[in-house]
Amino acid sequence: MSENPAGAAVDAGPGIPPPFTREHEELRETVRRFVENEIAPHVDEWEDARLFPRELFDRCGELGFLGLKFPEEYGGQGGSYLHDAIWVEELSRRGASGGVAAGINAHASIAMPPVFKFGDEWQRRQWLVPGIRGEKIGALGITEPGAGSDVASIRTFARKVDGGYVVNGSKTFITNGVRADFLVCAVKTTEKGGHNGISFLVIDTDSPGYEVVTKLEKLGWHASDTGEISFTDVEVPEEHLLGDENEGFRLIMANFAWERLLMAIGAVGAMDALVDASITYANQRQAFGRNIGSFQAIRHKIAEMATTAAAAKTLTYDTLRRFDEGEPVIREVSMTKLMTQRALCEVADEALQIHGGYGYMKEYGIERALRDARLGPIGGGTDEIMKDIIGKTFGL
Ligand SMILES: Cc1cc2nc3c(=O)[nH]c(=O)nc-3n(C[C@H](O)[C@H](O)[C@H](O)COP(=O)(O)OP(=O)(O)OC[C@H]3O[C@@H](n4cnc5c(N)ncnc54)[C@H](O)[C@@H]3O)c2cc1C
Repeated sequence: MSENPAGAAVDAGPGIPPPFTREHEELRETVRRFVENEIAPHVDEWEDARLFPRELFDRCGELGFLGLKFPEEYGGQGGSYLHDAIWVEELSRRGASGGVAAGINAHASIAMPPVFKFGDEWQRRQWLVPGIRGEKIGALGITEPGAGSDVASIRTFARKVDGGYVVNGSKTFITNGVRADFLVCAVKTTEKGGHNGISFLVIDTDSPGYEVVTKLEKLGWHASDTGEISFTDVEVPEEHLLGDENEGFRLIMANFAWERLLMAIGAVGAMDALVDASITYANQRQAFGRNIGSFQAIRHKIAEMATTAAAAKTLTYDTLRRFDEGEPVIREVSMTKLMTQRALCEVADEALQIHGGYGYMKEYGIERALRDARLGPIGGGTDEIMKDIIGKTFGL
């Protein structure tokens, strides 16, 4: 939780937006330098290779970035969600890529939190501690070929046997799914039971019967691996059960809130960068003997982009503050995810328009930003599902 609980004085300097403080802004500077020096120069190569090197996890672990919000006793930095938010926002600025951010965050911000939140001491030592060091890489496995939005209809089944479970089934679209060392995996543990028959197992990916069927080709997020996985009689010891049996749906939903908020924070970082890049370009590019920024149409476009980015940031930071203070924010998180992901698509599209033909080329990174942005309204719960959740919070 925040070191600035509601009502306490906030050590925010001039120009530092709540809920952040000077200390968070120092972290922002550190992360920004790291992205500029150690990620940006290599991103094109990693995108072409369709994978960033595994050593990047080690390096992020070494610098403490993978454990920002986890307690020091597990090798973390003892920070809060706000520290993680700074990391994700800066990782999503220009210079990084959606794929790099997705791969690192699927591990640090999506797969490891359930191990910390719902895991026991042994489980934390087994996966969280090496995960924070970047030695073991995690992935979150919920989606299946026949179950995306409708999580309750997953069919991967964990049959109870003496001392554990035998798992059969498949998962798809799993970020880090090709190279993960452990999969935090949603499985059915009762034949019936719908929402109530789901459990979370941590499955070591070197278990016999665990197979990466394919590495998927996709529109964006090129530097990350997205895997399809099958389980054939995979034996999983009972101490790999996270939380209580048949309580997995609740855990999945609890995890979704942070995942969706992170996607919003990433969009905020990406939009800021696209607005900056468009202003810079508009001030340099000449047409009809003038800078294109002097044309009213371009000026207005940038004004609209900047307004959208500012509105998205205000909404996101407000939801983040409330989430960090422990308020129930299902409606707000859903609204924030819905608004920011579409907003980023629009801003990226306008940035490409401002850059003209050069925007369509690789060198400015705008085409990549547009491709990467398009996953936002789909991943982590689609726009349609967000609207459904928001509507239900009004009793509709
Ligand atoms: C690159 C990538 C990375 C991903 N990473 C992961 C990961 O690491 N782990 C993981 O578990 N999953 C991951 N996903 C899966 C992602 O979360 C799902 O794609 C998403 O939840 C949507 O599910 P679906 O693709 O099966 O679409 P579907 O659920 O089949 O939806 C198809 C369309 O129908 C609409 N629809 C569905 N139900 C309703 C409804 N009730 N009302 C109105 N409209 C509806 C949807 O909104 C959508 O427009 C990833 C996906 C991609 C593409």
